[in-house]
Amino acid sequence: MAFVSRVVAPNPGPYTGPGTNTWIVDAGPVVVVIDPGPDDDSHLAALDRRLAGKTVGVVLVTHSHPDHLPLAERFARPHKASVRRYPDLDDGDVVRGGNVSLTALYTPGHSADHLCFLLADDGAIFTGDLILGQGSSMVTYPEGDVAAYLRSLDRLAALEPRVLFPGHWDPVPDAMGKIAEYRRHRLEREGQILANVRRGEGTAGELTRRVYGDLNESLMPAAEMTLRAHLKKLVDDGLVREDGEVFKAVGNLGG
Ligand SMILES: [Zn+2]
Repeated sequence: MAFVSRVVAPNPGPYTGPGTNTWIVDAGPVVVVIDPGPDDDSHLAALDRRLAGKTVGVVLVTHSHPDHLPLAERFARPHKASVRRYPDLDDGDVVRGGNVSLTALYTPGHSADHLCFLLADDGAIFTGDLILGQGSSMVTYPEGDVAAYLRSLDRLAALEPRVLFPGHWDPVPDAMGKIAEYRRHRLEREGQILANVRRGEGTAGELTRRVYGDLNESLMPAAEMTLRAHLKKLVDDGLVREDGEVFKAVGNLGG
């Protein structure tokens, strides 16, 4: 059994929760560190304090977003540890650090370069931003890919994990329940958007207002980019057609 603990980076916010979780997987004198987080002096100092006397075997990064990656090289260098992330690590690659062995799972959707890490002996998966401890993950156009995101959720479910260690908020003890909840949430949103397009064509901006209603103006851009990511999948699935700026339903003349 590995001992898993975290140091939370001081970058709280609407999308980062209390801050980014830097996970430490400890099974003896050698540890594996996942997602060093933002380039922040106090977070670096907090990590080094926590790891005093330990050897860092390897540093893993789930994806290259600015709240996960930037501190990695600076943290790893004095520990003489290597930083591993996609694409130099790919699906199925096994990384060892001391007695810890983790398998990389290529899980795009939130970002195109996203990896999760499976700690098979403990039935645990480090999920980065694919699944969070609270709320829902951002899957936004143009980087986000809803179809890939759903496949990545299925990939995790097939492994039947017991616990998830997310990139933000607390560990998730009911791993399978959370994966199912995330899947349901995405499909409900997709169904809602498709039903809306079927009621009447519209631009992405118009559809966003129809689907999300009276949203705070500051949240509108993110809502529209989420809606656009869903529209892209609906267009790819042949259910919606893009005509200039306007999105129209396909093959549903009866409404
Ligand atoms: Zn991210």
